[in-house]
Amino acid sequence: MPETFKNYIDGEWRDSETGDTFEVSNPADDADVVGEYQFSSAADANGAVEAAAAAQDEWADTDAGTRGTYLREVAKHLDDREEELTELLVREEGKTRTEANGEVNRAIDIFYYYAERAMDYNGEVLNPTGGNQNLYYVREPMGVAGLVTPWNYPIAIPAWKMAPALATGNTVAIKPAKRTPNSVRAIFEAFDEAGLPDGVVNMVTGSGSEVGNAIVEHEQVDCVSFTGSRQVGETIYEQATDDHKRIQTELGSKNPSLVMPSADVAAAAETVGAGAFGVTGQACTATERVLVHEEVYDEFVDHLVEYAEGLEVGPGLDDPGMGPHVSEDQLETTLDYVELGEEEGATLEYGGERLDGDEYDGGHFVSPTIFTDVESDMRIMQEEVFGPFVGVMPVSDLDEGIELANDVEYGLSAGILSQDHTEINRFIDEVDFGIIKPNAKTTGLDLHVPFGGMNASSSETYREQGEEGMDYFTIIKTVYDN
Ligand code: NAP
Repeated sequence: MPETFKNYIDGEWRDSETGDTFEVSNPADDADVVGEYQFSSAADANGAVEAAAAAQDEWADTDAGTRGTYLREVAKHLDDREEELTELLVREEGKTRTEANGEVNRAIDIFYYYAERAMDYNGEVLNPTGGNQNLYYVREPMGVAGLVTPWNYPIAIPAWKMAPALATGNTVAIKPAKRTPNSVRAIFEAFDEAGLPDGVVNMVTGSGSEVGNAIVEHEQVDCVSFTGSRQVGETIYEQATDDHKRIQTELGSKNPSLVMPSADVAAAAETVGAGAFGVTGQACTATERVLVHEEVYDEFVDHLVEYAEGLEVGPGLDDPGMGPHVSEDQLETTLDYVELGEEEGATLEYGGERLDGDEYDGGHFVSPTIFTDVESDMRIMQEEVFGPFVGVMPVSDLDEGIELANDVEYGLSAGILSQDHTEINRFIDEVDFGIIKPNAKTTGLDLHVPFGGMNASSSETYREQGEEGMDYFTIIKTVYDN
């Protein structure tokens, strides 16, 4: 029997008032049930927000050093469970062991990082304009942070929202993705062990339309931070701005990599392959559009196909080159885009198939997909697939490469593979993406630098991570003390 886990509200593990639960299973094997969770209601979500609101003044008045000490304790508890959490993440989301271990360590490091930053994050003293004056600004917490997170980085994304919110004196109500609540539950076990005061952190599991919506709408929520699909994010953005709440949305993308003739073409194919097929393409920063200079196009496609052929696909616990899709729905989406690509007249160069056989039984496995003969305006080149799926098209020069890199509604992460710094500088100047990665895969990011997109990928108002991640959760008061 799977273990049944509860919500965490006001310092207690609580059943939902609905009495209903749902199961979470392993994407590599549906029969492996990883846990059972509360199918909560809006009333449960309201309870979480109200607990957060009641605890907020005292947490804001707690000195920053003490808040940092709590976060360091949380990091230590997670660190003690690193191996176990790695396996849990593999079993709940399907990442390979290596990918999952990287994500768990990222979450641990995020708590350590913000534990330190809690102390030195501050306002600023400014030069006075008049005689006997102290002129400065201070940063105060926004209040209650309502957080809604996706399934694809189920421990790192909640960590990078909760840690800066808590470090700056906010209290939190979070709804993790229904598909992957296990890792967030583990963070809450660490909060509990670390003894965070009642009400400072609250977690409610259930559906987005019920629990997520109740958190976003609650009048005691002061700021909302959402990561997920464009469709849901745009609705939440409207809702929150109508209610005059601060809102941050980090959404999907259609990320390009441009390969120029000066690049080492074999190495470029490996970089692009890693950006496209790593984490089974289920990253907001995954490469889906590949633009290749016509001089090296054929050679590049050969190398990319070779890379895909060499990728072993299998259950994440075996640490293969690529794990399963998170769910049958996500697998179907990828297969639908394969069908669409063929209907649109593109050539399926490699993969695009559900994988059968004993080792794949009960799982959601697909081979990496490469399309050629694509046009920029095809739906498979414009819409986010969120699977291991790329379209590769030739370009005649840098101008066309930059133009086509920008020829999407999104703008999260863009790469260029080139040994020519003039080309790289033009690419940096001219592409409309929030993250630009010369000679690197479009995926992968550091915790201490700003992260966010442009255009349809992001609300663009604030960045996440690093110090900017803290700015989002604070409001400035400027003081003219005469
Ligand atoms: P999603 O379907 O938009 O769900 C995200 C979260 O929103 C889930 O917790 C979901 O609940 C909840 N939700 C759904 N409807 C809601 C509503 N009406 N009100 C409030 N909350 C609601 O996205 P996903 O499929 O989990 O994640 C994949 C997407 O996230 C991709 O588009 C990817 O690009 C994007 N992403 C972006 C970034 C970034 O930083 N830019 C990072 C990672 C992922 P359920 O549990 O019911 O689904």
